[in-house]
Amino acid sequence: MKLRDLPSVDELLRDERLAAEPHELTVTAARAVLDRARKEIQAGAMPGPLVDAVLAELAGAREPSLRRVLNATGVLVHTNLGRAPLAEAALARVVEVGGGYSNLEYDLARGERGSRQDHLAPLLRRLTGAEAALVVNNNAAAVLLALAALAEGREVIVSRGELIEIGDGFRIPDVLARSGASLVEVGTTNRTRATDYERAIGPETAVLLRVHQSNFRVVGFSERPQLTALAEVARRHELPLVDDLGSGALVAVGDEPTPAESLRAGADLVSFSGDKLLGGPQAGVVVGRANLVERLRQHPLQRALRADKLTLAALEGTLSVSLDPDARDQIPVLRMLHEPLEAVQARAEYLAALVGGEVEETVARVGGGALPLAELPSAACAVEESLAEPLRLGDSPVISLVRDGRTLLDCRTLTDAEIDEVAGAVRAARRDA
Ligand SMILES: *Cc1c(COP(=O)(O)O)cnc(C)c1O
Repeated sequence: MKLRDLPSVDELLRDERLAAEPHELTVTAARAVLDRARKEIQAGAMPGPLVDAVLAELAGAREPSLRRVLNATGVLVHTNLGRAPLAEAALARVVEVGGGYSNLEYDLARGERGSRQDHLAPLLRRLTGAEAALVVNNNAAAVLLALAALAEGREVIVSRGELIEIGDGFRIPDVLARSGASLVEVGTTNRTRATDYERAIGPETAVLLRVHQSNFRVVGFSERPQLTALAEVARRHELPLVDDLGSGALVAVGDEPTPAESLRAGADLVSFSGDKLLGGPQAGVVVGRANLVERLRQHPLQRALRADKLTLAALEGTLSVSLDPDARDQIPVLRMLHEPLEAVQARAEYLAALVGGEVEETVARVGGGALPLAELPSAACAVEESLAEPLRLGDSPVISLVRDGRTLLDCRTLTDAEIDEVAGAVRAARRDA
């Protein structure tokens, strides 16, 4: 085939198989196909059937970019895979609130303007025992807002052992700097005492900040002051103690501190994520003393960092489920966390039988910077290493782990309902491999 044998865009569009396609999209697709064909001919290759290529191009353009995937990694709160899957109750609230108008900022009783911050505050107060609560877009925003509102132009004291990077380059010291507060580091990487904070307090000090160590632990010769000891120092100097908890499990999970415990120990403000062990949508929650929460609410950044109605709806649904101890397993993250090993094994055996794989013992992880050392006994179905890529690229993408020359499909992060789908994906991957 020669370059001059290629049809024009108009000629290509006259094919009856393209007649029903939207004109502008089809022109764009046809141009792309002809460009490619030109390059192929110049490289001495033979382009395939052009109309088929245009149809494929159109199908590709219609394919959404943000897609559901099957998480077979065994990492429960996987930041790259969207963190927490939502509970049914949360999804139902999103559909109800998002599908129409809502009283987002309307006070139904008084018939006048209301505040979006009023909807979740009562639930959050009940769940944490706090005087007041505020919800923003994520926990990084919550920390930023707290420091901007309480410490702009002044000093924040923080331990050198807590100046963490959480992932994707998100570093606590950088957030602190953006808030307009300046950082006063105390202690050493492995040991910081309450007296280190006390000695650093001066006329410019505005906040004592404690940051959950999140995704790492210092083991061995290490020391961190008890929160109660830090709270005593804060009280003596009439300074607020802000505790960035990160994960914010509302119910005790391992040694993760809950917001309620942190407040009882004397923290004045506590911040945490909505989509880690809370198991809800991406959000940042701040709970604590009413006068401090009010200062955050009044700060201009609050307007820029506030959560949208879909987030609030999903968070309200999640929190309602959390109120009922018997219903908590309806929150997928908590269900996966607490599921007995035998149930996970049964799923792995079922999958192995469907695809001719082998059951292997694995270790699942909480992820999301919570309980970094916790090893959740788990089970995977092991299949050929060569399947990892086609599984990822398939119609129902499956994300797996490759270890020791095999692809492991960890069944702690898969539901019963997803196993048949994974089996179908494995069969399709073998065809494509
Ligand atoms: C995860 C985490 C954050 C950031 O929370 P996002 O909701 O992801 O913004 C901040 N601080 C700590 C300690 C964390 O673990």
